[in-house]
Amino acid sequence: MHEYSVAMGVYEVVLNVALKNNAARVISVDLELGELTHINPVQLSFCFEAVAKGSLLERTDLNVIKVAPEIRCKCGYEGSINTEQQTFYDLILNLRCPKCGNPAPELTSGREINVRDIKMEVDGNA
Ligand SMILES: [Zn+2]
Repeated sequence: MHEYSVAMGVYEVVLNVALKNNAARVISVDLELGELTHINPVQLSFCFEAVAKGSLLERTDLNVIKVAPEIRCKCGYEGSINTEQQTFYDLILNLRCPKCGNPAPELTSGREINVRDIKMEVDGNA
């Protein structure tokens, strides 16, 4: 399952940061998720919860921030593409510049899986 391996990857990244900072627990994680990754945020949260069980990340809120796809084309167009009337596979297979119709624009966003922010409680001994 794709979501499971992504959850595992996010877990490892966040756990590493938490350990380096002597965190007592991780409160929340903001995760940028490109719309073209084809990852279901609900399933991702579910997997993340399962992976994090019994760790510093046990009750961590995973906030998924969806990132819309954007392209750059040799005609000069740079920006978003209309995704509303297209299925996921249409988008991937028939990616086109909305301005000139070039079928092979460069995808500049929409595929990212980035941990953007981590909030944690640090054990202060105080
Ligand atoms: Zn173009």
